[in-house]
Amino acid sequence: MILNEVEAKQMLKKAGIKVTDTRLAISQEDAVAMSRELGFPVAMKIISPDIVHKSDAGGVKLGLKTEEEVAQAYEEIINGTRLKCPGAKIQGISVQPSAPAGIEVIIGMTEDPQFGATLVFGLGGILVELLQDVSFRVTPLTPADAAEMIKQIKGYKLLAGFRGQPAVNITALEEMLLKVSEFIDANPQVKELDLNPVFATAEGAIAVDARIVIDEGATHAKIDNRETDRLDFIFYPVSVAVAGASNNPNSRGYDFMAHLINFNYQGKIYPISLKNPEVMEIKAYPDINSIPDNVEHVIYCIGLENMPSFLDGCAAKGVRSIHIFSARGAETGRADAKALEMEIREKAKSYNIRLLGPNCMGIYCPESGFSFCADFPKEKGNIGAIIQSGGSSTDIAKYAALRGLRFSKLVSYGNALDINEMDLLNYLSEDPETDIIIAFIEGLRGNGRDFLKLVRKTARKKPFIICKGGLSQAGARATMSHTASLAGSARVWEPAIRQAGGIPVRDIDDLVHMAVGLNFLPPIRGRRVGTGGSGGGRNTVSVDEWETNGFEVVPLPQEIREEFRKRGALLWDCLDNPADRSITVPGDAFTVPALLLEMAKHPDYDFICANIAADDHPYNRETFKDWIFNTAEGYLTIAKEILKPFFLIISDRPLDSTSLDHWLWREIAQIRTRALEEKIAFFPTVDKAAEVVKELIIYYQHKEKLEY
Ligand code: ADP
Ligand code: MG
Repeated sequence: MILNEVEAKQMLKKAGIKVTDTRLAISQEDAVAMSRELGFPVAMKIISPDIVHKSDAGGVKLGLKTEEEVAQAYEEIINGTRLKCPGAKIQGISVQPSAPAGIEVIIGMTEDPQFGATLVFGLGGILVELLQDVSFRVTPLTPADAAEMIKQIKGYKLLAGFRGQPAVNITALEEMLLKVSEFIDANPQVKELDLNPVFATAEGAIAVDARIVIDEGATHAKIDNRETDRLDFIFYPVSVAVAGASNNPNSRGYDFMAHLINFNYQGKIYPISLKNPEVMEIKAYPDINSIPDNVEHVIYCIGLENMPSFLDGCAAKGVRSIHIFSARGAETGRADAKALEMEIREKAKSYNIRLLGPNCMGIYCPESGFSFCADFPKEKGNIGAIIQSGGSSTDIAKYAALRGLRFSKLVSYGNALDINEMDLLNYLSEDPETDIIIAFIEGLRGNGRDFLKLVRKTARKKPFIICKGGLSQAGARATMSHTASLAGSARVWEPAIRQAGGIPVRDIDDLVHMAVGLNFLPPIRGRRVGTGGSGGGRNTVSVDEWETNGFEVVPLPQEIREEFRKRGALLWDCLDNPADRSITVPGDAFTVPALLLEMAKHPDYDFICANIAADDHPYNRETFKDWIFNTAEGYLTIAKEILKPFFLIISDRPLDSTSLDHWLWREIAQIRTRALEEKIAFFPTVDKAAEVVKELIIYYQHKEKLEY
């Protein structure tokens, strides 16, 4: 049901939201009498459930100054809309005072399919759908959210007073947003809301048009209070059975056995194999029932169809959790596979057995000796990872390892029949072994609002970086209001995650880049960068890249130049930020590392970025090695000597050669290894580094503000 302008405004007025006093006239005499009471000038509009955009239908008359004009407008609106919208049911004509002109903004609400009630703010009026200059926040709003929502739109400059125009009353807009947020949460039957436009003036803010869509049966908060147990037993079980264990190196039952052995799992291992009396020299059993002891965890690599009867055996052996590697479940889309999954879930639930998967790689926990890939590092680290897709889990783990990150726990959880992103995030947020959490999620299984709550709780303790797959497919729905057509999940995801204190990233490599920044760099709190390392052209471009990302490449302070003059540097007067490698003279006091070290000591710089610039040299291998290792060692000294955030750019594009397998690669790999030994962050490009630092600054600013 849609409330018309008059009804909607009545409801809003009761909630303390400022609207123009709007009455419904059903005759010309009515309209004239009302305008006399309200005071001139007035605005008049058609009221019809069939007319959504009143002005398009010729149903709006503004600035009516006399009773005659009102009477005439009444006739014109009725006749005009009858002509333009024949058959539309006309309920009457609204009459309201003309509001003093201001900047038109929109405040609206829509139901995001994932997160529920979501507020929208932007430049409003008739241009809203054209400009799409809007921001989103999930309710309930904090005062900080309201302030940020307004500041975030491009049109903020207009609101803050553009070219001599007076600024509008921003506080009044913030208050209106907060009141609307309260109103929405107190009225779960409200499905959509449009205040379009709200007039923002130097004095205040007032809604001159309103529309509300009501759904009597609806509620916003569908709270799912599922208890997420401590899941310690899936990471640290005292015994593991491998169903489908095998001596055939081409099978997953072989792999999982081999990983347990190679990663030095310390508990008891029970291979289950119909064919083999022994697997990898460990006594095997034909089924779970024949195992003489209790079993805590199972890795299941046989057909899903055998699972229901297998579960009975598990119950008898006291099994607490099963990693179901096997696929061909619900992801096939087949009805019988879905039914089978449901049967498995219900049965496991009745036995109090937790399930991971199906259709997933399972657990990598070097501390306890679990892995799903022979090449993963064996040493444990502090990164926790929640990764829905199996392929991406290996991809992310390997790339992260190359960048020097190590994991506490990484879980690939697949179809999430039981254990889902909520359970895992809850666990990792409490896990003392985990300092940073990364997640790649394709579809939330838990309730979106609960997920945000959990993100908020997590972000107060440790950084949470998340990449969501499939955002572009979740397009806008067909809806009745401006607000709902503007929203669409893809646009709400990022602000909602940020609002909760999480760090949304666009792709899975960015999960790694962000984690590198958080793991290896001290907090970065300012935007002034000291940089250098390559020659003229590339340096110039890197300045552009820093600046377009909102950073300041501060010119070199004169005292640093003087310092190099004292040291006898030949080109002391040419030195600048960025430090230019092409003006180095062999044996001179000026070297790029020496200059960056001085910048690092200087209070004008917030952080230092050195470009290894292995690509802009004409040297042979020996000269190159000499030069680059000396330079790199110089950089490493900076990192050791000063506390200021410092990182390297090490390109990972093919360099200098027609052959991919070139000595240059191997030398560069050596430099990376050196950097990792010294725990120094590096990024593949300046652009990527700038993106990460930008996020880090937001993160450290936000961290201090997170409200309970
Ligand atoms: P619709 O959105 O259905 O076309 P509105 O009620 O938003 O109709 O009116 C269209 C435009 O008329 C608004 O964008 C605003 O510029 C102007 N307007 C509407 N109501 C008033 C009012 N009370 N005072 C001044 N201008 C108004
Ligand atoms: Mg309108």
